[in-house]
Amino acid sequence: MNYPLERRTILAQALKTRDLDGLLVTAPVNVTYLTGFTGDSSYFAVLPKNETLISDTRFEEQVKEECPDLDAVIRPHSKTTIEAAAEVLNKSGAKSVAVEANRITVGDLEALKQLAPKVTFVPLEGLVEAQRVVKDPGEVESIRAAVRVAERAFRMFVTTIREADTEKDMVDAIEKYVRRAGARGTPFQTIAAVGDRGALPHAPPTDRQLGDGSKLLVDWGADMIYKADLTRTLRSPFGTAPSRRNKQERVGYDFEELYGIVLMAQNAALSAIRPGAKAKDVDAAARKVFSIAKLKSDKHDGENLADYFTHGLGHGIGLEVHEAPRVRSNSEDVLEAGMVITIEPGLYIPGWGGIRIEDDVLVTKEGYKLLSTLPREPGTLAFS
Ligand code: ZN
Ligand code: ZN
Repeated sequence: MNYPLERRTILAQALKTRDLDGLLVTAPVNVTYLTGFTGDSSYFAVLPKNETLISDTRFEEQVKEECPDLDAVIRPHSKTTIEAAAEVLNKSGAKSVAVEANRITVGDLEALKQLAPKVTFVPLEGLVEAQRVVKDPGEVESIRAAVRVAERAFRMFVTTIREADTEKDMVDAIEKYVRRAGARGTPFQTIAAVGDRGALPHAPPTDRQLGDGSKLLVDWGADMIYKADLTRTLRSPFGTAPSRRNKQERVGYDFEELYGIVLMAQNAALSAIRPGAKAKDVDAAARKVFSIAKLKSDKHDGENLADYFTHGLGHGIGLEVHEAPRVRSNSEDVLEAGMVITIEPGLYIPGWGGIRIEDDVLVTKEGYKLLSTLPREPGTLAFS
């Protein structure tokens, strides 16, 4: 199946219904989506009779390899991409051409207008992104492959870590294993948060050692053009160093109990996923589980656990690690079969730490399918 060709056919139809002669695609991810070309610094002109990839000499061979069925203009270094694009548009005779309003600079658009004065440029936002929300089978397979690589890397990671490893060491190790497992890298700054540092949902790595806390939160992913994004929180096999033990805030639950509540919230959210469901209702299903439990601590006694789930439940994932739909309480998005989203409930308690469980999920006709396969139950991902 030539998925890029199919995507271009659907896009051409969308342009036709808007009475547009063409679209100049300037966002690298959208160029990749429509052509299969994975380099950067290149544009794609979608025109009724000549779809043209506009690239430069650095990518000449890659273009031939990745999209042999496409016309390509390889610009010389003496010409800018905008100049080359204007030439393609002028030659095509197109009168009204959309540009990606949120993906082109004002300067580039002004230059285009001067270089192609006969073309009317129509700023349009999110046309290709809207098409990318529902994944085709080729994309689902690519995301699944990224998830597999991320999981393989994590399994390698947990067998090798040591008590003296710092958060920075662990981030380095995970990123190395992700590349070794087959990815081109990680799609965002990996998180390895020890002990109470897990209370920061986006904790940057420090020199804190694994033995300094009783738990470890890891949020990592794989970049295989398509992305994976996962989180696991583990109890440290080393326990907390005796000198540190009394410093941990008491919250009235042990790790397993709080973990169980987060897992229940994730399961409640998963059960709410089906085509036609509102994304905000999926978020609410998780939040409801948290709202029926209260903290039992000196500092925060009686406070609702829902107050400690401080971010949205999840996000779409695909060519970008964060993309539509939005899965949060103020989202107006409605789920459709073929969407891929993360479901990542968490609790962040200052002085105690955090627990987050994040999985990548495909919305199916029947409901949902987990693309990630790492165990979610506490204690099942043991260090060895
Ligand atoms: Zn994540
Ligand atoms: Zn995420």
